[in-house]
Order: sequence, then structure tokens, then C-alpha cells
Amino acid sequence: MRWSFKVATVAGTEIKIHVTFLLLVGWWAFDAWQRGGMVAARASVVFLLLVFGCILLHEFGHIAMARRFGIRTPDVLLSPIGGVARLERMPEEPKQELLVALAGPAVTLAIAAALWGLLRVLDGSSDLLTFDPLRLRLVPALFQLNVALLLFNLLPAFPMDGGRVLRAILASRKGLAWGTRIAARVGQIFAFAFGAIGMYTGSFLLLIIAAFVYFAAEAEARAVHTRVTGRGVTAGGMMITDLKLLRVYATLEEAVKLLLAGEQREFPIVDNEGRLEGLLTRDDLVRGLATASANTTVEQVMSRGVVPLTPGVPFEEALQRLRTSGLPALPVVNASGLVVGLLTADNITDLLLVRPHLVKSS
Ligand SMILES: [Zn+2]
Repeated sequence: MRWSFKVATVAGTEIKIHVTFLLLVGWWAFDAWQRGGMVAARASVVFLLLVFGCILLHEFGHIAMARRFGIRTPDVLLSPIGGVARLERMPEEPKQELLVALAGPAVTLAIAAALWGLLRVLDGSSDLLTFDPLRLRLVPALFQLNVALLLFNLLPAFPMDGGRVLRAILASRKGLAWGTRIAARVGQIFAFAFGAIGMYTGSFLLLIIAAFVYFAAEAEARAVHTRVTGRGVTAGGMMITDLKLLRVYATLEEAVKLLLAGEQREFPIVDNEGRLEGLLTRDDLVRGLATASANTTVEQVMSRGVVPLTPGVPFEEALQRLRTSGLPALPVVNASGLVVGLLTADNITDLLLVRPHLVKSS
């Protein structure tokens, strides 16, 4: 299931919408339609598009500040609690993160101030107010929304902006991993509070927000854990080096014997010189046995077009490439194209479990 959809690209940043945001739009329109028919439904969708615009401007505040520190933003995700601009990398210094985190609320504050000014101007001219009944409600509603957005975003609940401010302050004292852990925990406490209030008041929106905050805090904590743990580690440092290879002309029967003889589940398939031709996964093998005979060569059933890693590939890139390959493992080849290792998801799990203890004790 895909949880977000791309709607546009602005200045190199893809704008994506989270499914829950669409649910919110639909629920809001339906609610308005029930109470006031098509006219009300249309007006509430127009209102939501303006809300969408205010949130986007807020996000582009973050994006513009990040760009000042040389950080690009591949995409921005809009969800019911605002938006998340996914920066290409983290700001290096906590002070930079602090400024990036504050830039969004600063934009929202400016929008709120402008709307407040507009309200003042409109107040004096009753003709303008009676001319369009929709506009009468639109400006105050947008003003209130931006104020709410500002206050909500400044709650010290990770992953909202206030949480990032908290993380930046904590990180400047005792490091990124510790700061993130504490900020994520504070975010989850807020999530439980939102959930409890949502259940007590029967607010569907608060329940969505509670779930979103909880999982976003969890995901951020895990991503930072992965990054901090994997710092300085390369594919060569994690891979299995004691591995069995199969030649392209090996039979499925030989592959089964190898599979049963050891722990290895995926086998790089090589030519006579030891150069990579493909990867035989356990699924390939099972499928091969189901449709062909045991004398079939592995070449006929292996996964092809496998792009191998090189030993020097950094941890995060290796992890990313393993994930996007859709394969359970990726072969690692040296400069002359010879297979020297195999990187599996298990290697990464082991590293994440074991390394924090090694780092702590060293
Ligand atoms: Zn923000």
C-alpha cells in the first residue's frame, strides 16, 4: 500500500500528499455536504485548498532555510498535522536544525499577521463583507487555523517543529542519538495524550493525529538510530565473506544441497572467472523446482540484472540499495568484478543490534 501521492514539483521539491490528508478532505467535504448541500461542500473544499496553501508556505519556510545551509529537499509530505519536508540530509549542527525548525512557524506567524491585518481592513468596510458571504467566514477561519497551526507546531512533541527545537537543544548537549531518543519519547507521550483526549471527546481528527505523531516519532527515532549506528561502516565491513558461490552451469539439485548444508539462503551465480552473472534466491530455487527438473541449470531460474555493491559503499547507501532492489541480499564485487561478499538484511539487523554495545564499551 502506498501512503502518499505526488501532486506537483516546485523548485526541485516534490509535493506529496499523505492518504490521511485526503481522508480529511473527504470527511470534511462530506460533513459540510450533509449540513449544507453542494454549496457548503464546495466552499469547504475551497477552504481546505487554502489551508493546503498555508501549510505548503510553512513547509517552504523550512525548505528555504535548509537551502541556505546547502541542504536540498527532495520532497515534502502533507498530512493532517501539517507537513514534513524531507531534507536530503540532516543539518550538521544543532544550531542549523534549530533555525530550519523555526523557519516554518515564522512563515505561519507572518501569514497569521497578514490575515489579522486583512481582518482589520475588512472590518471597516461592511460593503465588502456583505458582498460575499463566503469571504466573511473565510478570512477569520483562515486566521484561526494559522494561529492553531502555529501553536500546535510549537508543541515540544517530536516530530513537530517544537519537537525538533527540543531535539536540537538536547543534541547540542549530549549528542544526536540521545537528543532524538528523548524528543521521540516526549512526542509519544503527547501522542498518548492526544489519543486519550480524542477518545474522551470522540474526536476522529485527534485520534488520527495521535496515531500519526506516535508512528512518526518512532520512525524518526529508528532512522536516527540506524544512521548513528551505521556511521563509518561500509558494505565491506558488514558483508558475509565466508560464502558459497555457484557457477552458471550448476544444477538446481546442487543448489538444494548447498542450501540444506548451511545457513546461506542466497547464492551469487558466477561465470568461470568468478564474475557475477546473477543471484539465486531461495524463492528462485523453489520456483525453479516447481516448474522445471532438478537437472535444470541455475542460470535458467536465477534473478538477473542484479546491480552489485562495492566494498566501499557507505552503510546508509547500501541499506537503501538493498531495500530498493527488492532482493533479500546483494552481492558485493571488487574492482575487478569478482564476487567477494554478500550483504543480507540479516547482516544489517545484526549490526544494528550489536554495534551500539560495541560503540558504548569502546
Ligand atoms: Zn514545520
